[in-house]
Amino acid sequence: MSNVEAKPAEVRCGATVDGARSADGPRVEVLTSREVPLGGPRAMTVRRTLPQRGRTLIGAWCFADHYGPDDVSVTGGMDVAPHPHTGLQTVSWLFSGEIEHRDSLGSHAFVRPGELNLMTGGYGIAHSEVSTPQTTVLHGVQLWVALPGQHRNTDRDFQHYVPDPVRHQGAEIRVFLGSLLGAQSPVRTFTPLLGAELLLEPHAHLTLDLNPDFEHGLLVDAGSVQMSETPLKPTELGYSHPGISTLTLTNTSEEPARAILLGGTPFDEEIVMWWNFVGRSHEDIVQARADWMTGARFGAVHGYEGDRLPAPELPSVALRPRGRVR
Ligand code: MN
Repeated sequence: MSNVEAKPAEVRCGATVDGARSADGPRVEVLTSREVPLGGPRAMTVRRTLPQRGRTLIGAWCFADHYGPDDVSVTGGMDVAPHPHTGLQTVSWLFSGEIEHRDSLGSHAFVRPGELNLMTGGYGIAHSEVSTPQTTVLHGVQLWVALPGQHRNTDRDFQHYVPDPVRHQGAEIRVFLGSLLGAQSPVRTFTPLLGAELLLEPHAHLTLDLNPDFEHGLLVDAGSVQMSETPLKPTELGYSHPGISTLTLTNTSEEPARAILLGGTPFDEEIVMWWNFVGRSHEDIVQARADWMTGARFGAVHGYEGDRLPAPELPSVALRPRGRVR
């Protein structure tokens, strides 16, 4: 998906200050979402939890949009015209519906529930995303991963992977990136990462062994989930600091619960995000925007009916550096 805000802000993320580990146990911070319309006459709205003022990154996860369940006969579904990405990977993960993906690598894929579609922007890629006519309810997440400096100009790439579900203490878990509970995703990442979908039976109570080098986020989609001692409601993202090796999750409701667990080693580079670009400086962003408007850096997307997305205007105010918030 694209960040199709009309006036996107430039956001500076990262710059680890202390690398500290939490010494006071499994304290969980609750990050709430903000609603962002995706544009168009019947604009579908997404709930964004990353980046936000108090926290811009979880590992290399730098962007988290959660949407639906949306009746596409009301919202019009998803129709995002060709747009560019650079310096990042996109993860599309659906709970319901189907999205047709086309990109400038020549990929033509259908994004379906329970299937990972990971697109690597690297130096530059363009893609379109359109919900299919068969889709009645659209529901899922769109996540971005920042590429580390040494790989940020890597070749464009597209990978598809369907994880086998793992049963564990009343939960069904699909590990789409990284490893958890002995399940290992074969999909390559450029920094240590975890990404998994968790379905919790009513009143399920489970303990997960985690990599203590990772920080973690739990984005709740449905149900009431307690992360350690902290209750989370749907659309909230619970954050836990590095240094935690076990995490307990409890579905406190009578209904099934669903959440996405993200993790990674703290990303120790400062990045600048604007629109669909991740760079290291304002100048990188200016260049990427100019290349999209004029050049061939991003390649062509074939098969999309309609025009590509123009880049919004750049903000007139230059950014000042900002440290990573812990
Ligand atoms: Mn996109």
